[in-house]
Amino acid sequence: MAYIQFLGAAGTVTGSKHLINTSGNFNGQDGFQGRVDCGMFQGPKEWRERNWQDTPVPAHTIDAVILTHAHLDHCGWIPRLVKGGFKGPIYATSATIDLCGIILPDSGHLQEEDANFYNKTQRSKHIPALPLYNLEEAEACLQYFQPVEIGETKQLSPEISFRFVRAAHILGSCMVEIVLKTNGQTRRMLFTGDIGRVRDVNVAPGKVVHSGPQEGETADVLVMESTYGNRVHPDEDPRPALAATIRKTVERGGSIIVPAFAVERTQKFIFMMKELMESGQIPRIPVFADSPMAIKAVEIYLKHTEEYSEEAKRLINQYGSPLHWGGLTFASTAAESKKINDSHYPSIIISSSGMVTGGRIQHHLAQRLPDPRNTVIFIGFQAPGTRGATIKSGAPEVKIYGEIVPIRAQIAAFEQFSDHADPPELLQWLHTFQNKPRVTYLVHGEPAASSQLRDTMTKDLGWNVQVAQWMQKVEVN
Ligand SMILES: [Zn+2]
Repeated sequence: MAYIQFLGAAGTVTGSKHLINTSGNFNGQDGFQGRVDCGMFQGPKEWRERNWQDTPVPAHTIDAVILTHAHLDHCGWIPRLVKGGFKGPIYATSATIDLCGIILPDSGHLQEEDANFYNKTQRSKHIPALPLYNLEEAEACLQYFQPVEIGETKQLSPEISFRFVRAAHILGSCMVEIVLKTNGQTRRMLFTGDIGRVRDVNVAPGKVVHSGPQEGETADVLVMESTYGNRVHPDEDPRPALAATIRKTVERGGSIIVPAFAVERTQKFIFMMKELMESGQIPRIPVFADSPMAIKAVEIYLKHTEEYSEEAKRLINQYGSPLHWGGLTFASTAAESKKINDSHYPSIIISSSGMVTGGRIQHHLAQRLPDPRNTVIFIGFQAPGTRGATIKSGAPEVKIYGEIVPIRAQIAAFEQFSDHADPPELLQWLHTFQNKPRVTYLVHGEPAASSQLRDTMTKDLGWNVQVAQWMQKVEVN
């Protein structure tokens, strides 16, 4: 009998990777072996260290990878798998492939930089410190990607096929429906990847991609994310309060600094700034998108018009390409980034990384956190232990580049920008299912989030729901 093994994103929100084996026994490697997602562990060290472990089955015996979307916690381990001997196809939508083309090399580059930093400062107990993979290795894995259209059925072996359906999480994101036919029996597995929000433009405005996850699904085994299993998104429109925060900051001569991931969140935010300026709700001040990936990410967004939400279509029709907006500057090079640092008039600076764990945002915050005229606006989840979480918590100071930086700037946070459905939205989507899955495994959540969602689903739907454990093998029967 086929089995699924949870190799990551079980007990945590990162490192998504699930093995599917159709070999007929728990130890056999003779059937089809595929992986849904191949993500990197991020965050606490106990999880990050698992990036260095080999997979339980050798990389060269894996036949294919099916990728739900381009976030690093879903795709960031692919170069490592290829380095380990994997040479099969990596199936993804063409938008996901385009995004991986910038995200994976950037990840390789950052890991090389980190390793160099640790070697220079001798702060690692591993001597020499090594990158998980380098830029060249990240680029080398791109040749294995193969585009699959949404809705197209792809046969993987005589007994197993899959198709992508929309997840509405980020550009190109999909769920994976897998059909397994053995001994005259058909079983359906649905791997959700990350699930986007059920649409309401006033509650979750600025969404670039298609509205809502695919409805009316059928599954015998459901493997579902649970990131927001114990939190409900605020349901008021964030724009009036956001506009007021920006106006007040500009009135006192300060700047607005926004830590945001370069892909999706930055695009969403610049569209919102444009609309608030055009409608006169905030003053026309310079906006800087400071990330080496920002321009490339915008170009990819502009190419994939098939992915747009109605709201994104309307904004592009009305305002044209962000690459040609007056007042919006994309900084790709280090020199362009430095110029922003030198500006002393009110501006809006959007830079990565979104949780202030690295990247150019560190320079901007080191320079502007000590000034009470400025405001830092958080528009994304800040994982415990990150610098972003420290700043957001109201701490009096934070360490950046080894220096203590006093925090005197104002701090604001908006939770409405999330790209993950919350429990009421998940239930709304689950109620559209055509059947009751035999079993649901919850993945991609902190233990408290997953177990609360399990209880909510059991109570509301009467389904058999279990929280997946790291390395657990479960039969598909
Ligand atoms: Zn994601």
